[in-house]
Amino acid sequence: MKTSELFNNRPTLSFEVFPPKSDTPIESIYKTIDGLAPLEPDFISVTYGAGGSGNNATIGICAMIKEKYGIEPVAHLACINLTRDKVVSELEEMKKAGIENVLALRGDINPSIPPKEDFRYASELVRLIKKNGDINILGACYPEGHPEAPNIVEDIRHLKEKVDAGCSQLVTQLFFDNEDFYSFREKTAIAGINVPIEAGIMPVTNKKQIERMVTLCHAKLPKKFVTIMEKYEHDPVAMRDAGIAYAVSQIVDLIANDVDGIHLYTMNNPYIAEKICTAVKSLFRSPAK
Ligand code: FAD
Repeated sequence: MKTSELFNNRPTLSFEVFPPKSDTPIESIYKTIDGLAPLEPDFISVTYGAGGSGNNATIGICAMIKEKYGIEPVAHLACINLTRDKVVSELEEMKKAGIENVLALRGDINPSIPPKEDFRYASELVRLIKKNGDINILGACYPEGHPEAPNIVEDIRHLKEKVDAGCSQLVTQLFFDNEDFYSFREKTAIAGINVPIEAGIMPVTNKKQIERMVTLCHAKLPKKFVTIMEKYEHDPVAMRDAGIAYAVSQIVDLIANDVDGIHLYTMNNPYIAEKICTAVKSLFRSPAK
């Protein structure tokens, strides 16, 4: 099933997981999906290492999610370190595995890995995927603007090119201030972007994770959020619960404001996903708009 067909009369709920690190047995992902599946997500997306090693863990995990759990998978594909031929072979693998959805990404530029130069932007990947078959294409977007973009207007102009190239839905980078999302949604509508946009929510449950998020994604931390995190940083259980509560309050507000869907960055932690989903379960059953 193409996940673009899910946006009907209620908000969608999707999860993101990542393949286990190379020093962790691949089987650990089964435990993660075992915990996530009963929460009945509309789809689960699996990240792709932009390093370009192409170890196929993403596609294998997607195939398992579909076959074993009957949940629709979305395979991430990051092109910056891939050749066109490698992308075509990855798409072929996806087809063989029955994968019908791909999140087309550029990937972060790693100064120690020179890019392959076949792709500069995700929109070029979207065009190639579109030419290669009938797979549904998702794209990434940034409510606070992509860190490399000179300003949000330029970023949204390029986002429109990416959507016009063939993205049927978008997923946002994580954010902690819903007002950033609402402002972004308004600007994308003005720019003529009218595909569904799922809001990416990351429950922050420890201080190290926040520091990593700020470095990696340049996410702005609202005062309310900082106050909570500073208060509980030395009490791991209180910190975890505060992080869950903050994510829940973001989701309640987003659904009340007619968000198309919620994409939960699960960090492969079913316990936290379960706490959040239990708190907001009934909200996903109410009409979207
Ligand atoms: P693009 O859409 O190409 O945008 C990148 C930058 O280029 C932006 O600043 C944009 O404004 C600019 N730009 C675009 N087109 C043009 C143009 N024609 N001229 C000039 N500038 C232009 N990374 C991974 O490696 N693996 C993953 O699995 C992964 N999953 C992700 C999932 C989500 C939901 C998100 C939000 C991000 C994910 N990332 C992942 C990170 C992502 O790869 C990085 O954020 C990367 O820096 C940008 O990727 P993009 O696909 O948004 O790039």
